[in-house]
Amino acid sequence: MRTPQVEQAAGLPERVTVYEVGARDGLQNEATVVPATVKAELIRRLGAAGLPVVETTSFVNPAWVPQLADAAEVLALLGPEGTGRDRPVLVPNVRGLDRALESGCGAIAIFGSATETFAQRNLGRSIAESVAMFAPVVERALAADLWVRAYVSMCFGDPWEGDVAVGQVVDVARRLMDLGCHELSLGDTIGVATTGQVPALLDALDAAGIGREVVAVHFHDTYGQALANTFAALREGVATVDSSAGGLGGCPYAKSATGNLATEDLVWALHGAGVSTGIDLEALVATSTWLAERLGRPSPSRVVAALAAG
Ligand code: MG
Repeated sequence: MRTPQVEQAAGLPERVTVYEVGARDGLQNEATVVPATVKAELIRRLGAAGLPVVETTSFVNPAWVPQLADAAEVLALLGPEGTGRDRPVLVPNVRGLDRALESGCGAIAIFGSATETFAQRNLGRSIAESVAMFAPVVERALAADLWVRAYVSMCFGDPWEGDVAVGQVVDVARRLMDLGCHELSLGDTIGVATTGQVPALLDALDAAGIGREVVAVHFHDTYGQALANTFAALREGVATVDSSAGGLGGCPYAKSATGNLATEDLVWALHGAGVSTGIDLEALVATSTWLAERLGRPSPSRVVAALAAG
């Protein structure tokens, strides 16, 4: 398989941690329910391809996300391989945390919103009410020695509210990190961010005491900007990037086929720029091709398409 010609690019971290979200964020946007055995196989293959962190599933109310109603079953199929501190699960509330703990999970992620409209639509609560809902979740998770990540959605634009002020994102991020979360993931949920916004937000977070070493970025490719925005963040010193194998997962709020940044597109760009990831790109492409066959349609990743075509 072709590999990128390597030329060390200046101003990038030596190593980037890819936080793989395909099995959760990707699949939760798939209309057709994927069998638990296929999900478990996907997670296993992603681990074998060298993905250092794989978010496995979600313990949200199964009525909200029927695709992930089999969370406990998937983790049972995986055994200890599916529940380390490098295998987070999404948890919305204490009931979800109870289910995650019953499954033996070692890491969780909570998900807040930078805008009131999306907080209401996604969580049925105001921002303040959602932070109050997460507080006991994080407190108990930390007491149980779990690793905790906080997502913030709509950091760079909102489909209902339009532009999102940097101060609004910082305020929500600060409240979630004050709960004791270990990592903050900045979500461009509708993929509208452009490169100037990235350092502006990172600077504002830093001024509020949230340094780049605890920040991850989660860009969507709806407007073709995901990789450019990711590299803008890397040049600022961010070293954890969220992406989805094969570009799995459309964007339900933008009615676009293109959602998450494809892990293959990211890895091609990083390896070419001399940044190490520990990921075997060939094994990853084989995994995405295998999954695309099961989903009955090709991967939206340009790198997968190019490499699979030889
Ligand atoms: Mg996403």
